[in-house]
Amino acid sequence: MKRTADELKKMRKAGRVVAEMHAATRAAAKPGVTTLDLDQVARDVLEKRNARSNFLNYHGFPAVICTSPNDMIVHGIPGPYRLEEGDILSIDCGAIIEGYHGDAAFTMAIGEVTPEAEKLIRVTEESLEAGIAQMVDGNRLSDIGHAVQTVAEGAGFSVVREYVGHAIGTAMHEEPQVPNYGSPGKGIKLRAGMVFAVEPMVNAGKPGTRLLDDGWSVVTADGSLSAHFEHTIAITDSGPEVFTKL
Ligand code: MG
Ligand code: MG
Repeated sequence: MKRTADELKKMRKAGRVVAEMHAATRAAAKPGVTTLDLDQVARDVLEKRNARSNFLNYHGFPAVICTSPNDMIVHGIPGPYRLEEGDILSIDCGAIIEGYHGDAAFTMAIGEVTPEAEKLIRVTEESLEAGIAQMVDGNRLSDIGHAVQTVAEGAGFSVVREYVGHAIGTAMHEEPQVPNYGSPGKGIKLRAGMVFAVEPMVNAGKPGTRLLDDGWSVVTADGSLSAHFEHTIAITDSGPEVFTKL
């Protein structure tokens, strides 16, 4: 769906709030801090910016951020877990301003991490950048996922299949879905005014996933580390515009 200039303006504002939530939680995430502490940090940003959370109460989700450490891929619930030196942590969150949504995620190192963990974080972010570079008027939807997959698998990692990106606007999850894999040149034609949340989830080992008993937390089936980066991006006449970056 194509958005009007006025809608894009509101989405830009929502994206900025998400970027501020990222900056604040990133600064607070240190050894000894709990994931619930980070949820409070993000709530403070939402309150300060008069924004609503699109995560809180989403199908009953109890927090404004997802916190997914180490082998957890996505959808982890903030709680008493205390971050430790050597962890990697994925934080995913969103915001609503005047009815328009932003959604973004990042993975960070807690203190010093192994070279493999560092590489996984770097490559996952690079795979997102490669996907964003394909968000040009006239390209096809699957060009995005193909670019993501090429970077992730080229580095020896694997791409999660069960969870994907999505269009975004007046709801967080709109059609169509944006997979992080596939052959190029397929799907809808990308047009200026369309907005997508592109979000590679990259595993250091095999791509398989497993849902934990809490009904939310998704972990790698083989116990390997996983990283997640996401931005909300508009396609414009002059190329992709990332809304969830400061
Ligand atoms: Mg997200
Ligand atoms: Mg998303």
